Amino acid sequence: MKPTLIIGGGIVGLFTAYYLQKEGVEVTLIDRTDLKDNCSTGNAGMIVPSHIIPLAAPGMISKGISWMFSSKSPFYIHPRLDFKLAQWCLLFFKAATPSQVTKAIPYLKNISLLSKALYQEFRQEHPDSSMALVEKGLMMAYQTESMEKEEVEFAHLARKYGLEAEILGPEDLKKIEPNLQLKARGAVLFPGDAHLDPGALYGFLKSYLEKKGVTFLTETQVLGFEKSGNRVQAVLTEKGKIDCEKILLCGGSWSGELAKMLQFSLPMMGGKGYSFIQKNNPEIQQATILTEQKVAVSPYGETIRFGGTMEIAGTNQSINKNRVRGIFESINRYYPDFQASFPEDQQIWKGLRPCSPDGLPYIGFAPGYGNVLVGSGHSMMGISLAPATGKILAELHQQKDTSMEIKGFEVGRYN
Ligand SMILES: Cc1cc2nc3c(=O)[nH]c(=O)nc-3n(C[C@H](O)[C@H](O)[C@H](O)COP(=O)(O)OP(=O)(O)OC[C@H]3O[C@@H](n4cnc5c(N)ncnc54)[C@H](O)[C@@H]3O)c2cc1C
Repeated sequence: MKPTLIIGGGIVGLFTAYYLQKEGVEVTLIDRTDLKDNCSTGNAGMIVPSHIIPLAAPGMISKGISWMFSSKSPFYIHPRLDFKLAQWCLLFFKAATPSQVTKAIPYLKNISLLSKALYQEFRQEHPDSSMALVEKGLMMAYQTESMEKEEVEFAHLARKYGLEAEILGPEDLKKIEPNLQLKARGAVLFPGDAHLDPGALYGFLKSYLEKKGVTFLTETQVLGFEKSGNRVQAVLTEKGKIDCEKILLCGGSWSGELAKMLQFSLPMMGGKGYSFIQKNNPEIQQATILTEQKVAVSPYGETIRFGGTMEIAGTNQSINKNRVRGIFESINRYYPDFQASFPEDQQIWKGLRPCSPDGLPYIGFAPGYGNVLVGSGHSMMGISLAPATGKILAELHQQKDTSMEIKGFEVGRYN
């Protein structure tokens, strides 16, 4: 019997392997790296059913244009002559309309809620996972009147879709952060959100899968495929050919390149972001987004992670310290008493979010193929949505009904 091959060992690949091995499928996971670091290990770890609006939303275009002139801004597209980038931007602009966003909301909401329920189930089944799932919600803190208006409007919209949202004033913030000042006019708290330690989750999942018999072929780059009719027969790697029953493309920001090898279009850009860990002193208690700067604050008791910026970067992985400085400067702008120190080079983590132009992931069968599945393009929600994506892909692999309607995630929507 030939194995099912998963290409890409980020969190989406790992959760896909997790649900496939539960079904008794023989799985081999291939990754070109040693799996010590990818986009799934150092991110902010927020589980966000509240994020029902995709990145491609109407306000983003005017904001994006104004942010493009600042090297420390939260969102940046480096203007350059690049056909792939131009094509991606055009599709992004096309998707950023009220009607497209309205269509996307139920899909994002349903997959987020499914995923959160799967995290709760996962924690119950694996109390030793050390992923530290904290279910205290996510707070969107704002300092300006314009951002307050935006966030409060969004809170009303979220309520309309059945999500809980509490609008908080400065007195509430003092109770939530008793150890230091959070300098904000107010905040919206989404009690249904959560956060976890992505590195701990990743490490646990990988060793659990190894124990369960999933084969890991690391430092093995996929270079091409051998096909017959509408099926892939084998994967060609730098270390040789591997025959397969079915394949799943979970290659993150590089999934577009894998799709190209199979002659279908999967528009994708890497959205580069950074994070760094600090000693949590004085202790910040609440997972928060500093909304004007789009900085994520993820407390883990004695330590805390600050992360942010979205630079549409293709697959360029260089570190731009100015953007890291933008995140760093936000800390004391919102928490004036926090003892922050600028991170050393080796303390700066970077990752490329796999961004589809419409902000919706690609989940399902690849167009024109009977044995190729895709799970990618989760942008800023890959941790949040990985369990549901893995479960849905395992269901499709096993020809079962899917746990939710997935038409909005159609892989071939740009073909
Ligand atoms: C600063 C920052 C903060 C974030 N915060 C959050 C958050 O709070 N909540 C959230 O839900 N998400 C967050 N994200 C997004 C999240 O990290 C990503 O969506 C997620 O990690 C993507 O996972 P993935 O498995 O799709 O891709 P990746 O983790 O990038 O994995 C893809 C893998 O595929 C491999 N690969 C690619 N091509 C090949 C090939 N040809 N051959 C072999 N291997 C290949 C790569 O080596 C890589 O290991 C954040 C991201 C950043 C940068």
